[in-house]
Amino acid sequence: MVNINSSNQAIELENKYGAHNYHPLPVVLAKGEGVYLFDVEGKKYYDFLSAYSAVNQGHCHPRILGAMVEQAGTLTLTSRAFYNNMLGPYEKYITEYFGFDMVLPMNTGAEGVETALKIARKWGYEKKGVPQNKAKIIVAENNFHGRTTTIISFSNDENARKNFGPFTEGFIRIPYNNIEALQEALKTEGVVAFLVEPIQGEAGVYTPDENYIRLAKEACAAQGVLLIADEIQTGIARTGSLLAVCGNCSCEGHCERQETYTKPDMLILGKALSGGFYPVSAVLADKAVMEVIKPGQHGSTFGGNPLGAKVAIAALEVVRDEKLAQNARKLGRIFRERMQQMVDKYPIAKLVRGKGLLNAVVINDSPDSSTAWDICVSLAEHGLLAKPTHGNIIRFAPPLVMTEDQIHECCDIIEKVISNFNK
Ligand SMILES: *Cc1c(COP(=O)(O)O)cnc(C)c1O
Repeated sequence: MVNINSSNQAIELENKYGAHNYHPLPVVLAKGEGVYLFDVEGKKYYDFLSAYSAVNQGHCHPRILGAMVEQAGTLTLTSRAFYNNMLGPYEKYITEYFGFDMVLPMNTGAEGVETALKIARKWGYEKKGVPQNKAKIIVAENNFHGRTTTIISFSNDENARKNFGPFTEGFIRIPYNNIEALQEALKTEGVVAFLVEPIQGEAGVYTPDENYIRLAKEACAAQGVLLIADEIQTGIARTGSLLAVCGNCSCEGHCERQETYTKPDMLILGKALSGGFYPVSAVLADKAVMEVIKPGQHGSTFGGNPLGAKVAIAALEVVRDEKLAQNARKLGRIFRERMQQMVDKYPIAKLVRGKGLLNAVVINDSPDSSTAWDICVSLAEHGLLAKPTHGNIIRFAPPLVMTEDQIHECCDIIEKVISNFNK
């Protein structure tokens, strides 16, 4: 193996031997610890992407690491041809943690979404009596649910779709944060589910009206349609509550507080479910929905493996024991307050939005300009890593183990860089 001695050397290798399916910032990372990342040259950064919210618990969390190392030396994979002694305890733990009867374990987020779509269709035919091949699933404009052929079939991101057709049928796309549009679409024959992100992360942290998800659930329930919440990015404490569908409740676990909580019929989790150690995703639902899946009808070689199960339990324990939802809520308020002051002062920063520690600053320049990219390059030089999305939006999502002093220091860095661009 080649030993990497410089960032340039690593970048050259990736460019030469790897498919160019990403456009990374020119930083080569070699180590992570809590809220920090370190590059090949040893420079230290605050991580404000958290691997798209997969490392909510911070990089290389010692408790998750311990669980992983222990299990890796004991039993990693058996396939589901046999039972294993970690899966049952994990299934009990995660279903109680989030308040659902049953779970279907998968690996990546996209697989979780695919699983939910398949369950919803099957439920529609078998429980709702939808005629064969007529099932329809409503989705929102500017959604991001992953990269499989079916998932990009209902995306409206041309870059994600172009020349990947033909596409999967059976989806209806409506504007996000628009209950009337949902009510209208729900009248279509054969509708079985509405798949939605409680906050659209990839689209640029679009935060809907406070009561959007509650009203969506009511509208779906009135028509006997399933509400599927994709909380792969928003879930597991990121937005200042255990789930974004918890609304304004930031207690330590699942509590079903009447006034704030909206229970989806299916909940999709991924990313931080393993604290960034291992791909672990899950679809949670009650028995009346989950029971439509019978042996041989869906699965995955790695889904529900003992290593993933053990890691996921540890990752969820950390979220609860370290009160990460409460911390995300508290630091998120500070962050948006500081960013709002910055927005008021420097016209180059147009607005700040978000919830908990999932926030974005919109840069006052065209999405085609390189301004947000240049700001991110400068942020990196100043020791803070963030990535632009959709041209002029910068997402700020640090690990949730950050302290108050650290978030202030980070706001100082962001403000300094923004002030340099305000010419
Ligand atoms: C990241 C993400 C996915 C896809 O997860 P992968 O693990 O990359 O397949 C799906 N939905 C949302 C909301 C996401 O943020």
